[in-house]
Amino acid sequence: MSVVLSLKNIKKNYGPLKALDDISFDVPKGSVFGILGPNGSGKTTMLGIVMDILKATSGSFYWNGEQGSTNEMRKQIGTLLETPNFYHYLSAEKNLKIAAAIKGRSYDEIPVVLEKVNLLQRKDSKFSTYSLGMKQRLAIASTLLGSPDILVFDEPTNGLDPAGIAEIRELMKDLNRQGKTIIMASHILDEVEKVCTHVAIIQKGILKTVGTVQEVLNAAPTDKVATLEIEVSADNITALEDLLKQLPGVLSVTNTGSALTIESSETLSSSSINKYCFEKGIVLSQLTLKKKSLEKRFLEITGGKSDR
Ligand code: ADP
Ligand code: MG
Repeated sequence: MSVVLSLKNIKKNYGPLKALDDISFDVPKGSVFGILGPNGSGKTTMLGIVMDILKATSGSFYWNGEQGSTNEMRKQIGTLLETPNFYHYLSAEKNLKIAAAIKGRSYDEIPVVLEKVNLLQRKDSKFSTYSLGMKQRLAIASTLLGSPDILVFDEPTNGLDPAGIAEIRELMKDLNRQGKTIIMASHILDEVEKVCTHVAIIQKGILKTVGTVQEVLNAAPTDKVATLEIEVSADNITALEDLLKQLPGVLSVTNTGSALTIESSETLSSSSINKYCFEKGIVLSQLTLKKKSLEKRFLEITGGKSDR
């Protein structure tokens, strides 16, 4: 696995506030890496540090194995950290000409990046006539000038309507398919689950967990008992319900009419439940382990509260 960005023991203090407390993780090349956390958890601070806008109190970071953020390296990274200023009365193309001039990029790239965000047809329309999603796509087009391999986005769907959110998510997946590594901060679980391959969950400046989205969904949290959701059914559902309530490890049993939903600790497996019921004389007609959603895991990990 080749690593694009590596954080080693990054700390950032604002006076007594530990905005980032000893953060270490690696971002694999080719991933869509989500930094997920409630508002105030330190996401923007983290991106600011690796983009050299802020200085860490201690710790170090490496882009493609090289320490710090050199000018040369930064040129290979497209960033969208805050909403860029575009001129409302100018066309998309003219706005990008200004952006290209500031960044020292050739105008030849403009149709290429407009095509990538699917705005080439609308290049002559005034920015003010654009939908929210189109405006954000233009902002992303601007980050693509210079054809960077790495993109860093801070809350890229903030303030967008549902249509705009869908457009940006599709675009991110598309850019990833074209080989770009994307590092994205978000407080929206659903977004991370739908778009990201990897996730680091932070809360109050502390890294709670990191891994592939799949790993994080399946891992047991360190500080709480993880729960599984299992759906079961049998001919005599009332007898089954009574039986399951006596099984150690079962936390709750909900009757949904045609089936029972069991919430159990991770010490129980589907096969141990099946065996237990069979030995007590009930044959299960259904047994499904439900996939735990990232939302549930996130609430388990963070305690469900927004911080600060
Ligand atoms: P997020 O992007 O996850 O919402 P931030 O990185 O913006 O979080 O902020 C993390 C914490 O650091 C918050 O408690 C915020 O109030 C605090 N903070 C951010 N910038 C400053 C600053 N310049 N001075 C003091 N505190 C700050
Ligand atoms: Mg932020």
